[in-house]
Amino acid sequence: MAEDQYEPQSLDITPDGLHIVWKDGVESLLPHRYLRGHCGCAQCVDEMTRARRVGVEDVPSDVTVEDCLEMGRYAVGLLFSDLHETGIYPYKLLRELGGGAG
Ligand SMILES: [Zn+2]
Repeated sequence: MAEDQYEPQSLDITPDGLHIVWKDGVESLLPHRYLRGHCGCAQCVDEMTRARRVGVEDVPSDVTVEDCLEMGRYAVGLLFSDLHETGIYPYKLLRELGGGAG
């Protein structure tokens, strides 16, 4: 049960962002653009140097999460309105981005 904080109980796309209620009762609201700017895929982060190529400033201010798809028990894939769909967000990362980690 120690991993409850990294398991979502519910996950909803809202006008303000991705709203997650974690199994330990904590809620996170992750703004659309903020999520897009923290994508960790090979297009957004250089695989060799780990340098970020696409950050929050580089994406449209009106970008939104269009769809989310569970990828096993540990991550979710997000499709954005700028048609970026290669981003895989481990729940642990989402929890950290949403604050209240640890
Ligand atoms: Zn990406």
